[in-house]
Amino acid sequence: MKKDKIYLGLSKYHEVIYAEIDENSKITSLNGYQIIHDDDISNGCGGMECISSTHDETLENGEVINSGDNLKEWDLPDDDPHKDLYEINTWSCEECGQYHDDEDFYDYAVLVECSLYCNECIPKENMLKRIEKPNDIFKVPNMSQVDLSVLDDEFTEIDELFCDSSGFGNESEAALTQKGAEIYIEKLLKEHGEIYGAITSAGQFQVYVTIFKKETE
Ligand SMILES: [Zn+2]
Repeated sequence: MKKDKIYLGLSKYHEVIYAEIDENSKITSLNGYQIIHDDDISNGCGGMECISSTHDETLENGEVINSGDNLKEWDLPDDDPHKDLYEINTWSCEECGQYHDDEDFYDYAVLVECSLYCNECIPKENMLKRIEKPNDIFKVPNMSQVDLSVLDDEFTEIDELFCDSSGFGNESEAALTQKGAEIYIEKLLKEHGEIYGAITSAGQFQVYVTIFKKETE
């Protein structure tokens, strides 16, 4: 995150709020960021994208902060837990150097261990995630824009799950809910032992997760 932005905390809508200030510490604007690639944050990386810019913001604790307020009068958080995240607005692929902006981020970018790749360049070993326990199903990478056929020599497709991506679906809907998906994966783990997964198609509320096992000779 840029040094000239001051971390204020989370908004009541869980955006990460930063203030831009002038030379007298007066707020000139308040910017809200959303965290992208949440799963990667445990590895010390991940991305943030600016999604709002306002002149007044209500923080999670109920405090209201406005443009023109002087930050010297505020008790600021000691540390910014998001400071190691990328600020995503323009970037280039680690491998081919191709440039993208945030408009096409979801279509072309994949974040792997703190590096950004376009879909054509994503390393093979990062295309699938091993599923060792049922809830690992929710940590598989989104490869919906990636051609997984390059893995054909090493992996065989064994199943496909149609999951409710929100995790809060109604049991009667056709898509598997969080619990349903975990039960299903438990069964596959018993049957096959070592399995791998990736999201192979993603909609707004539902995703297809394809399950693979390693080829054995
Ligand atoms: Zn590339």
